[in-house]
Amino acid sequence: LSKSKGRNRYEFFSHAIEEQAIEKRRLIEEIRIALKLGQFVLFYQPIFDQCGVTVTKAEALIRWDHPQRGLIGPNEFIPVAEQNGLIEEIGNWVRNQAIEDAAHFYQLSGNKMQVSVNTSPLQIDHEGLWVDEWILACNKFNLPRDTMIIEVTENTLMDPDSPIQQQMLRLNNYGIDIAIDDFGVGYSSLAYLQRLDIDILKIDRSFIKHMESNENSIALVRAIITMAHHLKVKVVAEGVETIGQHQLLQQLSCDYLQGYLFAKPMPTQNFIDRYVRSSTLAAE
Ligand code: C2E
Ligand code: MG
Ligand code: MG
Ligand code: MG
Repeated sequence: LSKSKGRNRYEFFSHAIEEQAIEKRRLIEEIRIALKLGQFVLFYQPIFDQCGVTVTKAEALIRWDHPQRGLIGPNEFIPVAEQNGLIEEIGNWVRNQAIEDAAHFYQLSGNKMQVSVNTSPLQIDHEGLWVDEWILACNKFNLPRDTMIIEVTENTLMDPDSPIQQQMLRLNNYGIDIAIDDFGVGYSSLAYLQRLDIDILKIDRSFIKHMESNENSIALVRAIITMAHHLKVKVVAEGVETIGQHQLLQQLSCDYLQGYLFAKPMPTQNFIDRYVRSSTLAAE
């Protein structure tokens, strides 16, 4: 009896795995079509100064505007796209759209709005084409060189012998800012901070989340900010949701704040109406 039960279970699992594989192939095919039909969109989440008043930066966050399922978040398709090379094509689209948007923001307000773009390590080739394309795209729109920010995670910069370090140095030299995303949760040493001219550290949301209830979280956030400032690196707190967190971060001299307390990611036009045009009005 137990033997046949075991076999049933095996069949059940193998069936489930097969289902999953089919589901994944379907998703991959749908992502290809979505790229062709232009179903991806960028949302923008403003990044505020220490006081939570002024916005000089925004993070571009991809969404899939699916005809049947509505808006789909990146966690549902970026990991799959990373497994089969589609991330490159998605990444190119994100880069071009974000640069075009940044140029539009600049044109509308006459002020620079820095636009931050997420990058998967799997998008970065080892020959330098990825950097070439970034520079070409920025030049095409005649943007001030530090208009764009490229966000990478610590893991991307982990290996000192990887050509990726070289690519990052080239971006540095061109003037594109580099931000470390999800800082503090990667499997990485701090050695890259010696080698690269990092502009921004983004403290991972998990540290911010527990600041009000856990002394260790406060101590860590304080230490990260102190370290960053000694290195002349600016700090963004990710995922600020409460007034209490904001107050603590202000006391610790955190440079910039991003989170639902201030604004959620929003469609480009809403971002323009609220944060780009309003700066023109204020200037007039
Ligand atoms: P991330 O780069 O760490 O982006 C921040 C995420 O936190 C976003 O989720 C944002 O909507 C969310 N968030 C912001 N403020 C708060 C808050 O106060 N509370 C909470 N609970 N969440 C907050 P989203 O848009 O779902 O993006 C998830 C991840 O997908 C991003 O994490 C990033 O790693 C990746 N991603 C997004 N867009 C792109 C892209 O264009 N290319 C690549 N390669 N990855 C992307
Ligand atoms: Mg990010
Ligand atoms: Mg720099
Ligand atoms: Mg992050």
